[in-house]
Amino acid sequence: MSLTLFLDPVFEDHKTGRHPESPARIEAIRKRLTDERIKALGKRGTIRRATVEEVTRIHGRDYVKQLEKTAAMGGGRLDADTVMSAESFEVAMKAAGTAIAGVDTVLKGVSKRALCLFRPPGHHALADEAMGFCLLNNVAIAAAHARAHHQLDRVLIVDFDIHHGNGTQDLFYSDGQVVFFSSQRFPFWPGSGAKDETGAGAGLGATFNLPVKYGTAPADFRKAFESTLMQAVRLAKPQILLVSAGFDAHREDPIGDLGLGNEDFEYLTKLVCDVADRECEGRLVSVLEGGYNVDRLAECVDLHAEGLAKS
Ligand SMILES: [Zn+2]
Repeated sequence: MSLTLFLDPVFEDHKTGRHPESPARIEAIRKRLTDERIKALGKRGTIRRATVEEVTRIHGRDYVKQLEKTAAMGGGRLDADTVMSAESFEVAMKAAGTAIAGVDTVLKGVSKRALCLFRPPGHHALADEAMGFCLLNNVAIAAAHARAHHQLDRVLIVDFDIHHGNGTQDLFYSDGQVVFFSSQRFPFWPGSGAKDETGAGAGLGATFNLPVKYGTAPADFRKAFESTLMQAVRLAKPQILLVSAGFDAHREDPIGDLGLGNEDFEYLTKLVCDVADRECEGRLVSVLEGGYNVDRLAECVDLHAEGLAKS
């Protein structure tokens, strides 16, 4: 079996009110990825909660406690964009744990690929700070688990969300063992992700940024994405590929829009699968980040899953 897919209604329990990052995103994906569809694509994985030890490989203990406390008090606003409901801490811990379950599934050889469809997203979350709809940095927690639990020392994270994965970049900026490649609309929120942000110290040269101007033709985007990805791959020689899969660069996305269509996400999926097949026996774990047109999101996630399953 080549794909294990993680998807659960519990990820609709993180309530955000009138907000683009809403439970309707997972609801739309669940409507599309029915039991029957999942069966055709692979198998369903069992979600799990992360332990405090697992998330504190990345986040500060006090920050995690603060999130728990905010939820216990009924939730609240952490910054202008990021809100929590009473359930949000538990849901975020389950998203982080599910990213870890994805890594375990792939590294134990249960399946070649894993796709973790959850919310809240993670790639803006910093060590001690929530940001941009993100509470815990799921992909970073997955990378830390691959290192600590499976003793990997070469991990490549690829982030094609329209927003810069500033949290992930920051967490591994001077690391060197985790290579990070992010493409983003630029200039755009959160402002980082320029080409000259390339890492520091032991991580100097291990961060790859591809800033993309609004109005860039999809064909040019593809070319630049592939060429920067290959540079990152050559340096990383990855043992596993982790993908921060955001679909908000879709031309119909209400808050993103970099002119991409469904077919471009199919292309990106095939590209990362080919890399994983060439470099690391196909091992790839993809985690959901953004994508706010729920209908396009569900279509693109379905195409992404199909690409992961068939190759
Ligand atoms: Zn985004």
